[in-house]
Amino acid sequence: MRWIRFQLPDGTPTYGWLDGQQVGLVQGSPFGERQRAEPAFSLDEVRLLPPTTPSKIICVGRNYAAHAAEHAAEVPEIPLIFLKPPSALIGAGDTILLPPQSQQVEHEAELAVVIGKRGRWLPPETAADHILGYTIANDVTARDLQRRDGQWTRGKGFDTFCPVGPWIDTEFDPADALITCRVNGETRQMGSTRDMVFRIPQLIAFISSVMTLEPGDLILTGTPAGVGPLLPGDTVEVEIEGLGILTNPVQAEPPH
Ligand code: MG
Repeated sequence: MRWIRFQLPDGTPTYGWLDGQQVGLVQGSPFGERQRAEPAFSLDEVRLLPPTTPSKIICVGRNYAAHAAEHAAEVPEIPLIFLKPPSALIGAGDTILLPPQSQQVEHEAELAVVIGKRGRWLPPETAADHILGYTIANDVTARDLQRRDGQWTRGKGFDTFCPVGPWIDTEFDPADALITCRVNGETRQMGSTRDMVFRIPQLIAFISSVMTLEPGDLILTGTPAGVGPLLPGDTVEVEIEGLGILTNPVQAEPPH
């Protein structure tokens, strides 16, 4: 099953489900009681929104050895986690805005886990019961500010720095899927989820030993090697084999 969130013509956000390229309305939500209506319109007619409204977005740093190496960093002995604020979320097709404070904004293509069921202290063996499905994310990063600040809230937290979508896929198998990032059609990143240092059940166990995971929460599982700059006018695509493509244009933030 593929779930989306989108805007009705009057602007109201709502959930939908996909039958191929057709969209059906959902009453309720994928995270609880719901009813699915017959598909009524086409996917390219709707304005997509981020497919979930998380209470928090937990990200994993340096979870691919080759990416840690490109920053001359060690692979951590335990998962290295940080947060992005929900205000950073944008959907498929929305514009990534480059803030005036940074001269070095970069893409990070990542597989994202969508939590379906609340939990704390979850053992790895039952972690899968708490996953609704998977989506695609771009952990957009102001690299210069991340380095300068020493901690990552500013470098990772600007508005529009968390594109997510286009949908949640509940049947995707994350064991060995190719993650690719292209900028203006040129391949920048390519890696397989099989090269994650910490696997998804371990990540869920570790994170839930710290904080309660709520339905809708997102876990961004880290990026493979090849991160690089985003410039005004670029189009960045993150593709995950078997899951889809997340496309976002890039512009400078207009003066306020
Ligand atoms: Mg990242």
